[in-house]
Amino acid sequence: GSLTVGELAKLLHKEPSELIKKLMFLGVMSTINQELDKDTIELIAGDYGVEVEEEIIIDEIDFEEYVEVVNEENLAERPPVVTIMGHVDHGKTTLLDSIRQTKVTEGEAGGITQHIGAYQIETDGKKITFLDTPGHAAFTTMRARGAQVTDITILVVAADDGVMPQTKEAISHAKAAGVPIIVAVNKIDKEAANPDRVMQELTEFELVPEAWGGDTIFVNVSALSGTGIDELLEMVLLVSEVAELKADPTLKAKGTVIEAELDKGRGAVATLLVQNGSLNVGDPIVVGSSFGRVRAMVNDLGRRVKRVGPSTPVEITGLNDVPLAGDQFQVFADEKKARQIGEARSSRQREENRSENSRVSLDDLFNQIQQGDVKDINIIIKADVQGSVEAMRGSLEKIDVAGVKVNIIHTGVGAITESDIILASASNAIVIGFSVRPDVNAKRVAESEKVDIRLHRVIYNAIDEIEAAMKGMLDPEF
Ligand code: GDP
Repeated sequence: GSLTVGELAKLLHKEPSELIKKLMFLGVMSTINQELDKDTIELIAGDYGVEVEEEIIIDEIDFEEYVEVVNEENLAERPPVVTIMGHVDHGKTTLLDSIRQTKVTEGEAGGITQHIGAYQIETDGKKITFLDTPGHAAFTTMRARGAQVTDITILVVAADDGVMPQTKEAISHAKAAGVPIIVAVNKIDKEAANPDRVMQELTEFELVPEAWGGDTIFVNVSALSGTGIDELLEMVLLVSEVAELKADPTLKAKGTVIEAELDKGRGAVATLLVQNGSLNVGDPIVVGSSFGRVRAMVNDLGRRVKRVGPSTPVEITGLNDVPLAGDQFQVFADEKKARQIGEARSSRQREENRSENSRVSLDDLFNQIQQGDVKDINIIIKADVQGSVEAMRGSLEKIDVAGVKVNIIHTGVGAITESDIILASASNAIVIGFSVRPDVNAKRVAESEKVDIRLHRVIYNAIDEIEAAMKGMLDPEF
């Protein structure tokens, strides 16, 4: 990290003017707000007999820059992490079960499958990790907590039902996260199956099969009979290869909590997905705002393990408290440090819970634009009819105030739902309702997540409000 002259002076208990003078002798003209590079900081501090310690505690709290420098030579291919999404009853759970059954048991006879929130299979000598909770709600809830764990989304669409509201939502959620989509056209064993219609319908969402000039992979499957599953997994590996997913197994582990609970006998139990580095039994660890030492690790086959590498899910015990799904974790060199940082994070967490929102809201938009905090304004549109959605989208996308543009991340017909709010929260978006209202759950979540919902009955007013907010001309609300 870097420091300004003023900050360094404070740390050294000196007057800024003294430092400025010193810098001048070194040939550096500076002001109190001048940022100093590492070498200059060391030089000045050395002059006062102070040794500079590189680890700045605030960085550790944020888990940034703590891990050792990335060494290209240590980077190794890691398995992709896959989430299955799609409309209810289109076969997500069946597909997850069927993949697990056909692939896990092969080499691992005797293992008793454990539901720890994720599992790993092996196919063609390569591993793939699946998150066990299907659906975009879980996916985006994690994202709202700052966790990006999914590398590839499998979008399940039933061939006898086609694109449905939650299919559309899943597409928006995956796209907002920038995660590639593979389409699994499911239930092709059914007589009413019409995979062509599914492809046709999905072209509207820019998911165009290669045969039609696009670049989206479609695989026809039957989760029930197992047809097409091998091909689907091959495609996952293909997309994963293109993405060149890499990690360094020699580092201290860091990653994300998949799920966690309090177990009567074992205390806090958490399933962690290692995203970089390797996790060992005995490692001092900070998980969200809890901490401890990894007491025991159990994998998805119920086996005790001592060390696991990148993209591996593992259930651990040994934490002082139960973390939340989506919390980040990081292993530290010693337990004392882990405790310090865990405590600092937990007190900061309490502060954040008390403090005001930092989300985008129309009332504060102009300020945020002025400060350069906002480059795009993400908006979700819900309306009573598709025509209004399109009319709003058309006008909103034309707005351009000083280079700041409107970005429509999701649209839909019908009431504002919890899923809309979670997406808004994860993407820092504003929700506009046109002749629709939020349902009870949406209202509750919007309040806790501090998502700004704007309701209108006249299209012009909605557009005008956004534009005015961007220009700092919004009438104060009374
Ligand atoms: P989810 O809500 O998306 O998780 O859907 P489920 O996996 O629970 O499946 C919903 C229903 O569809 C269940 O009755 C499944 O047995 C059935 N189903 C799932 N996949 C297939 C399939 O490939 N073929 C047929 N015929 N039925 C399927």
